Amino acid sequence: MEIKKRFREFKKKLPEDIVLVAVSKTKPIEAIQEAYDMGQRIFGENKALEMQKKYEELPKDIQWHMIGNLQSNKVKYIAAFVDLIHSVDRFKILEEINKRAIQNRRTIKCLLQVHIAQEESKFGFNEHTLQELLESDKFKKLQNVQIVGLMGMATNTENQEQIAKEFRLLRLLFEQSQKYFDKGSDFKVLSMGMSQDYEIAIKEGSNMIRIGSYLFGNR
Ligand SMILES: *Cc1c(COP(=O)(O)O)cnc(C)c1O
Repeated sequence: MEIKKRFREFKKKLPEDIVLVAVSKTKPIEAIQEAYDMGQRIFGENKALEMQKKYEELPKDIQWHMIGNLQSNKVKYIAAFVDLIHSVDRFKILEEINKRAIQNRRTIKCLLQVHIAQEESKFGFNEHTLQELLESDKFKKLQNVQIVGLMGMATNTENQEQIAKEFRLLRLLFEQSQKYFDKGSDFKVLSMGMSQDYEIAIKEGSNMIRIGSYLFGNR
């Protein structure tokens, strides 16, 4: 009941053009089902095997988003059904996703994760490696992955101005990256904002937020 109420209220205040990814990592099937019953269809997980298990048990019209750092040997567990991978942080993983997409006769949509936070532990491309990748021939040869945008995480801090600054940088990189894609391409997704900072992210131009604890409760 609690989850239903939180989803109802959150959806009411969320602008219509912002896509909500409900981050259900570590949460049980029943919690996801409650959110599903409220009309939520996009769920984010950070572990391939956990996502696969939930995919098998839950309704098939759920769109599963991988938001966690992926190891190459785990891509095969989700390649048949995953809707969007937010966490592509190196070329090698993109090659593996492409290979598994070919095996499954499909195209897998991905976001490139960009390192914008001050913390060292977070994964992702930087400004230079991002540009290098987008310009490279090896990247253009991957036919079964489709890059539809960027994802980033701000520093975990109380300093709102710093968070805003980091999101602003990501938005700038997003706009600069658009020149590598055809007009009318699907490179349109800017995934930024979590429970603690989604309001700042939306102000700075996010169009996809990833919300876990605010909706499902603390993990
Ligand atoms: C866990 C996680 C989230 C959601 O975090 P909350 O603070 O629970 O909203 C969003 N994005 C990524 C990449 C995560 O790992």
